[in-house]
Amino acid sequence: MESCIFCKIIVGELPSYKLYEDKKTIAILDIFPIAKGHALVIPKVHSETLYEIAIEDAQAVGATVSRVTKAAKQVLKCDGVNVYQANEKIAMQEIPHVHFHIIPRFEDDEIVFMAQKGELKEEPEYTATLVSTLTNLK
Ligand SMILES: [Zn+2]
Repeated sequence: MESCIFCKIIVGELPSYKLYEDKKTIAILDIFPIAKGHALVIPKVHSETLYEIAIEDAQAVGATVSRVTKAAKQVLKCDGVNVYQANEKIAMQEIPHVHFHIIPRFEDDEIVFMAQKGELKEEPEYTATLVSTLTNLK
């Protein structure tokens, strides 16, 4: 994607603070961090959302998310880590190229993600369809 900021970072057309790179992923520092060590894990292949990403690219991203999370814990000695990912504007996705935020958390950092709303209502038909869709996804 020619106009995509992350694609430009991946090919080196835009600068970044690169933390890690392998065949399918990169990890960089977020240039607008909400916490010390706030990093982004990005698949090299352009996919706008997790709806389109190939499973093998998603697996590679998962492995890099795990690496960056472990490194954050070891290096920053943080009290916890959030992993955050958004798909589409309503979910507050700002850059249309899949990315995961790795956000080290510290006691009293006052970062608030979301409040819980009500209790789970059982909807067996929807759940059954979701289970069969998940099983059959390629
Ligand atoms: Zn892209």
